Amino acid sequence: MTTPPAPSGYRGRFAPSPTGDLHFGSLLAAFGSWLLARRAGGRWLVRVEDLDPPREVAGAARRQLDALHAFGLVPDEEVAWQSDRSDLYETALARLLRDGNAFFCHCSRADLASVSGIHRACVTRQPRPDPAVRLRVPDGSVVAFEDAIRGHVEQDVASEVGDFVLKRADGFWAYQLAVVVDDAEQGITDVVRGADLLDSTPRQILLQRALDLPTPRYAHLPLVLGPDGRKLSKSDAAQPVDPSHPVAGLRAAWARLGQAPAAIAGERDVPGLLARAVAGFDPALIPAQAARPHEMS
Ligand code: GLU
Repeated sequence: MTTPPAPSGYRGRFAPSPTGDLHFGSLLAAFGSWLLARRAGGRWLVRVEDLDPPREVAGAARRQLDALHAFGLVPDEEVAWQSDRSDLYETALARLLRDGNAFFCHCSRADLASVSGIHRACVTRQPRPDPAVRLRVPDGSVVAFEDAIRGHVEQDVASEVGDFVLKRADGFWAYQLAVVVDDAEQGITDVVRGADLLDSTPRQILLQRALDLPTPRYAHLPLVLGPDGRKLSKSDAAQPVDPSHPVAGLRAAWARLGQAPAAIAGERDVPGLLARAVAGFDPALIPAQAARPHEMS
């Protein structure tokens, strides 16, 4: 019998966008963030990032939550839905505007094409009825952080990204603002997610600084690539996971997290497998790099 870890202040989360059914990459993010939270004796939350109705698939959020349940990955608190949280984003945006850190922008994508889409100054003379709001990113805004899996990460946000959108011209909230506001409001100490979001993290750290919010620890899990070597996306229905065979899905995710198959061998039901997984999990084994499916153990 192992002693359960002491209760800790660790708070992790899984934050799917309901743009399709749960696929193997999202199962990996869910299982990886759950394992790290459990191992730390912390809490694990689920937040549905339903802020982009044009990209949403009807019923996907419910199916994702049901699938998590089938995999035994049950949140410790009530599920948060971003579509219910506009007031929080509105307050944060008002503060950024008031402090001069954000500005209304009338530039269209076409206006910015000649500068590779990187906004450093407004270029349009054509006011739009529906301006976007961007964060002002001063020249020389280089952000560095230590990722628990990838190590040192550094990005010059001004030259590589530019002033980025907080509220879109179509009126929807941008992911970057909502995720920063929610992670802080929910007291998240550890963000564990796929490496496709690695290059969003410096933007999120800049926003945390502008809003005087704490910066959580970050861990970016390896991507899962499709047979063609490209990353799987949630809208790519090619490899949805099968919630009616949860043990098989968890085993595959366990292996992809670099963990020894022997640690969970022989388990045929989800609770038994999860208990052995928590006891045998070694975060130091998580690989930093993506592998193609045929390279997976
Ligand atoms: N909603 C994002 C996605 O599904 C993840 C956000 C996050 O983990 O920060 O890709």
